[in-house]
Amino acid sequence: MAMKSSGKQDEFFDELEVMPTEVRENYLNQGLSQAVDYAYRNAPAAKEILDTAKVSPAEIRTIRDLEKLPIIRKTDLIDLQRAKPPYGGFLAIPLQDVDRVFISPGPIYEPLHTGAIKWFAKSFYAAGFRKGDVVINTFTYHMSPAGILFHEALRDCGASVVVTGTGNTEIQVQTMYDLKVTGFVGTPSFLMTLIKRAEEIGHDFRRDFVLKRAWFTGEMLPGPLRKTLEEDYQIATAQAYAVTEPGGAIAYECHQKSGMHLMDEYIVEIVDPGTGKQLGPGEIGEIVVTPIHNKAWGLIRFGTGDMSSYITELCPCGRTANRLVGIVGRTADAIKVRGMFVVAKQAEQAVLSFEPISRFQIVIGRKEQRDEMTLKVELKDEAIDRKELADNLNERFQNLCRVKIDRIEFVEKGDIPEEHQKIVDERTWD
Ligand SMILES: [Zn+2]
Repeated sequence: MAMKSSGKQDEFFDELEVMPTEVRENYLNQGLSQAVDYAYRNAPAAKEILDTAKVSPAEIRTIRDLEKLPIIRKTDLIDLQRAKPPYGGFLAIPLQDVDRVFISPGPIYEPLHTGAIKWFAKSFYAAGFRKGDVVINTFTYHMSPAGILFHEALRDCGASVVVTGTGNTEIQVQTMYDLKVTGFVGTPSFLMTLIKRAEEIGHDFRRDFVLKRAWFTGEMLPGPLRKTLEEDYQIATAQAYAVTEPGGAIAYECHQKSGMHLMDEYIVEIVDPGTGKQLGPGEIGEIVVTPIHNKAWGLIRFGTGDMSSYITELCPCGRTANRLVGIVGRTADAIKVRGMFVVAKQAEQAVLSFEPISRFQIVIGRKEQRDEMTLKVELKDEAIDRKELADNLNERFQNLCRVKIDRIEFVEKGDIPEEHQKIVDERTWD
C-alpha cells in the first residue's frame, strides 16, 4: 500500500486508515465476499462449514451475513487439525507455496503465504516509530508470529531492529544503554522489569537512557502503569490487540489513546458468544475475526474468546475506523444479565476502585422472570458512609459495566471466603 500522498503524509501509514465510512463499508464487504468465495473454492474445511450451514458463498455479501455461519474456536481448530493434519483443511494454497508456519499452543499450525503483508506496520507507524529509531524487539522469534511479524513491521516504518527476543534482562539493559535504544516492543511488565533492573545497578533511567517510545501487546496496559511510564519516565506508550490464530494484528491505538482502531485487513464482529449474533456499538461481546488478506488461510469467523465492545464515533486523530474499547475479559468469565454481559474482571475494576472495599461478590438471581443482580461487599473500614459509597458504586458500575446493580449488601468481614468466584449465577431456568 502506497503512503498517502496528501499533506498529511507523515501522519498515516496508508489511505485505508482514513477511508470515509461508506467507502470502508464497501471495501470490507467486498473483501469479505471475495475471501469467503476464495476460501470455499480452495479450503476444504471452509467449504464443509458453508455446506453444513446450507449457505452458499454468494450469500455472504455483507458483514451482517456472517451470522449465518458458525463460530470456529481454538478448540475446534485443534480438533480439526488433529483429524486432518496438518492444517485441518483450512490451507487455501498449494502446500509448497506456504512461506512460513507459526505454531500456537494446542498445537495449532498457522500457515502464511507471504511475509510482505504490512499488517502490524500501521500500528507501529501510529505509535511514532520511524527511520532513526533503534528498537529492541523483546517478543519471541520462536514458534509464535510475534517476533518476526513485529520485526518486519518495524522495518516497514524504517526503524532499526535489535533482535533481542524474550528474557535476558541483563543483556537487554546493557543493549539499551550501549546502542542508545529509542524504542521498546514487548509487554508492559517486561519494560518495567528492565527499568527496575537498570535502576538497581545504579542508573538514573531518564539520564542514562534515551528510550522514548514503547509498543505493547499481549497484556493490556493498566492505567497507573501507563501514567508511570509516560510521566515519570517520559516514554510515549501505545498498545495493540493481536490474536495469533487468524493471523495477528487486529486493532491498534493512535496518539489519542482512546480505544484501538480496527485494521481493515480483518472483519471484526462483536457477538453474543452464546448465539453468534452481532451486537451493536457499546455492547460487550466476544471478538470474532475473519482475515480477508491472508490467502493461505481459509479461516472464517474465528472466536477469540476475548470480550470487548466498539465505538463508532470519529476519532480526532483522523483515522476513520471504529475502535475497540480495551479487552474487558474472557468469555469464560462473562455472565449475561438482562441481555448484557457482565465480565468478572471489569466488575472488579469498577468495585475495587473504591478504597474502603476489601472484597466483593456478585450474585445473579431471578425473580418474576427478571434477572436480579446483588453486589455483596466487605468493607475494610466499617465507619464509612455506606449510603454515599453505595450511590457512587452504583454509578461507577453502571458506567463501566452498563448493567444496573439491583441491590448492594454490606456483609460481615469473612462472609465472602478468601477463594471465591467473583460472579455466582444462582438462576434456575425451570
Ligand atoms: Zn485515532
